Amino acid sequence: MSESDTSERSVRSCVSCGINIVGMSAASFDCPECDARINRCAKCRKQSTLYECPDCGFRGP
Ligand SMILES: [Zn+2]
Ligand SMILES: [Zn+2]
Repeated sequence: MSESDTSERSVRSCVSCGINIVGMSAASFDCPECDARINRCAKCRKQSTLYECPDCGFRGP
């Protein structure tokens, strides 16, 4: 077992404001266009901020 495994990319950030959402009650869903993982923090979700897919640029509410 290794505790220094850096290959696991567990860093997630809000697509709208860019903050680190690890440990937050953030919304997580798949892009309807390309199925990329999209994360959005509770604050942006509450404000209904538009999200933009980092992969295909799809924008949605
Ligand atoms: Zn946000
Ligand atoms: Zn996409």
